Amino acid sequence: MGPFPKYLRFNTVLLGVLSLFGIAAFLNFAWWVYLIIFLTGFTIAYFGTTQIASNFHLPAYCQAVDLSKKEIAITFDDGVLNPVQSNLVLDILQQYQVPATFFCIGKNLSSEEQIDVLKRMDAEGHLVGNHSFSHSNFFDFFSSKKVVQEILDTDTIIEQHIGKKPLFFRPPYGITTPNIAKALGQVKHKTIGWTLRSLDTVIKDEQRLLIRVQKKLKKGDVILFHDHLEFLPRFLPLFLEYLLKEGYTVVGLDQLLQLQAYQNKPSI
Ligand SMILES: [Zn+2]
Repeated sequence: MGPFPKYLRFNTVLLGVLSLFGIAAFLNFAWWVYLIIFLTGFTIAYFGTTQIASNFHLPAYCQAVDLSKKEIAITFDDGVLNPVQSNLVLDILQQYQVPATFFCIGKNLSSEEQIDVLKRMDAEGHLVGNHSFSHSNFFDFFSSKKVVQEILDTDTIIEQHIGKKPLFFRPPYGITTPNIAKALGQVKHKTIGWTLRSLDTVIKDEQRLLIRVQKKLKKGDVILFHDHLEFLPRFLPLFLEYLLKEGYTVVGLDQLLQLQAYQNKPSI
């Protein structure tokens, strides 16, 4: 499903459904008219909530500002779930001299090994973003106050260890809700989505993943991977070789989106 037009935001749809209900009631329409209006509104709201690129509840930054260049950005979510795997990923990125962005979960930044990986990400020129504290399955039911707390807690941990406060936030599962939108407005972070979901957590096979990504990749893409996956260090060299062969340049997410990644340290 492609991005929704800008005017098709949550409040507009809600207002639309209510107005149509009003008109239907005024004109004494049959019950199934209400059902159709309701189901249409519900379907739009469902896709708007689950598709981060739809900009339904809040504006999310998902692709390059300048789509004429053959540039892409690579992102990894859920770190640092497995420090051993993350280090293997960092080794490969270092070998190919490719920058990436790691959206880390606050609760996954507690052990000494996890903190060492966090510091290494920053020291080797990668960006660190905020991916909530709990990554709870119920994140989309959280109050805006609780979402704010999750973001601030994770910011604090990251800043404590790398001296920079992230401005990039990627909501867990890419779900956006009115409460998350309200929270983001308060903390002033930029919501970061993606254009290419690799589905690496589902595919789990380097050859099949390569085929999928090759088929979908286009200029200006933001690609989503997970650095804790066991097979990913076998996939990455194949993918990076492919990018070289096809003439793609991997740039930092801040450069691709033309946004500042940290609060206290301009990175572009
Ligand atoms: Zn995640």
